[in-house]
This record gives sequence, C-alpha cells and structure tokens, in this order.
Amino acid sequence: MVELHAYALTGDPEHAKRQLVDELRRVYPETATAAIIDERHEVWADCPLFAPGTFGDRPTVTTPDPNVVLAGDLTRVDLPVALMERAATSGFLAADALLGQWRLRGHPLWTVPTRGRLAPLRAAAARFG
Ligand SMILES: Cc1cc2nc3c(=O)[nH]c(=O)nc-3n(C[C@H](O)[C@H](O)[C@H](O)COP(=O)(O)OP(=O)(O)OC[C@H]3O[C@@H](n4cnc5c(N)ncnc54)[C@H](O)[C@@H]3O)c2cc1C
Repeated sequence: MVELHAYALTGDPEHAKRQLVDELRRVYPETATAAIIDERHEVWADCPLFAPGTFGDRPTVTTPDPNVVLAGDLTRVDLPVALMERAATSGFLAADALLGQWRLRGHPLWTVPTRGRLAPLRAAAARFG
C-alpha cells in the first residue's frame, strides 16, 4: 500500500491525483510498472496554513499568564521541529513550564545542534542567509 499526500492544493483535484501518481513513478521508477488495483482519495481542507515568514507571529508555549501554556504544531518553538514533532516537543515544554512553577522535575529535551559547528560556515550563513 502506498499513501501519497499533497498539501496546499489549488486547482483541479483530478489533476492533483494524476500528478501525485506521476511523481511517485518519477521518484520511484520501480513503481512505473506496478498496477493500481485499488485507490481511495480524500480531499480535506482542514490543515492549518502558515505562510512563509509568519513563524514570528505564532504564539509561544509560555504566555503572559504563567498558568496558561500552549502546545501543538501551531506554536513557535525555537528548535528544529515541525508538525507532530513540534506538537510533542511543545507539549513537553508546556508541561515542563508548569512543573517548574510547582518545583517539580520536568522531562529533559534533547535536540540536534541549533547552530552550525564551524565558525566560518556560521559566519557565511549569517552573511548570506
Ligand atoms: C493528512 C495528514 C498527514 C500528516 N502526516 C504527517 C507526518 O507524516 N508526519 C508528521 O510529523 N506530521 C504529519 N501531519 C501533521 C500532524 O498530524 C500534526 O502536526 C499534528 O497532528 C498536530 O498535533 P496537534 O496536537 O497540534 O493538533 P491536532 O492533532 O490537530 O489536534 C487538535 C485537536 O483539537 C481538537 N479541536 C479543535 N478545535 C477544537 C475545539 N474548539 N474544541 C475542542 N477540541 C477541538 C481537534 O478535533 C483535534 O483532535 C499530517 C497531517 C495531516 C492532516
């Protein structure tokens, strides 16, 4: 079974369906000769849409009210996470924020480095990024 996803569709959904299969066959040539014996399509319009450049406008996990914390993939988390990983990460951060207030130990979060390891490349990224 192969599940194909497309996001932010515009235009004719029938065209998108054909395009998805064409792309599958282009990216995975071994599927080119595979026959489709059954297919199901779901077209939904319930994905939140965050336009490029709007990251800074997202709500943060902590809020001005220390008793109110937010979690979910809508939040702004300054770690390289997205989607389900951001939902889970922000959940840990939110729980840790509350637990910290009550002097209870939270859950440590591990992440990949959030900046490059080599200073010259960091400088280049800052210059051209
Ligand atoms: C088709 C599809 C495929 C995906 N594939 C991937 C993938 O492969 N990998 C990945 O990391 N992420 C994937 N995602 C994204 C992932 O599902 C989301 O990032 C993740 O579910 C976000 O979790 P969340 O807890 O923030 O929100 P949600 O999982 O959306 O949970 C929000 C909940 O709040 C409920 N709710 C909404 N309004 C109200 C209200 N007024 N009152 C009470 N309840 C309410 C909703 O019913 C829902 O249960 C996919 C998403 C979709 C739609």
